[in-house]
Amino acid sequence: MKIYINDIPPEGLSLDLKEEGSTLASLAGGLDFSFLSPVVAHLSVTRKGEDVSVCGDVSTKTSLTCSRCIRKFDFTIETHFSVFFTRLREEAKERELKKEDMELNLLDGDEIDTDAILLEQIALEVPIKPLCSPECKGLCPRCGADLNQGRCGCPEEERIDPRFARLRDFKIKS
Ligand SMILES: [Zn+2]
Ligand SMILES: [Zn+2]
Repeated sequence: MKIYINDIPPEGLSLDLKEEGSTLASLAGGLDFSFLSPVVAHLSVTRKGEDVSVCGDVSTKTSLTCSRCIRKFDFTIETHFSVFFTRLREEAKERELKKEDMELNLLDGDEIDTDAILLEQIALEVPIKPLCSPECKGLCPRCGADLNQGRCGCPEEERIDPRFARLRDFKIKS
């Protein structure tokens, strides 16, 4: 939902949100995960002058693709976050220069979009190289068999050949 900055009362806003994953996904050109459950969030929004802070909790269940065995697996996200916005361009620039650990986003316009904030926080929680399990054995680089299902018929030395391992990494990234 969109919140107009000028509508935020002095005591702040407390919001309980439930959004369909597809609504959030439609904000992005493409996601490397999909939603398995609605996104549930509690947010508190406060305003001080031209600064707005949004703190809250968000949780949802996603489906990720394992970077080793390319199987899909469920991944639950539950995170607490705080994000800060300002309408003052100078202030945003100054904070950036000082490299304060609090990240300040420059607000473009008169509103904040909670869907965009939630999507960003969820995306931050998704691992860059998702693993279905830390012990995932991945695919055989020679025949493509899922080694979690058991050994394939390939000779051991070909499965561990580092050249094949590199090729496998390359294939996953592309
Ligand atoms: Zn896996
Ligand atoms: Zn094999």
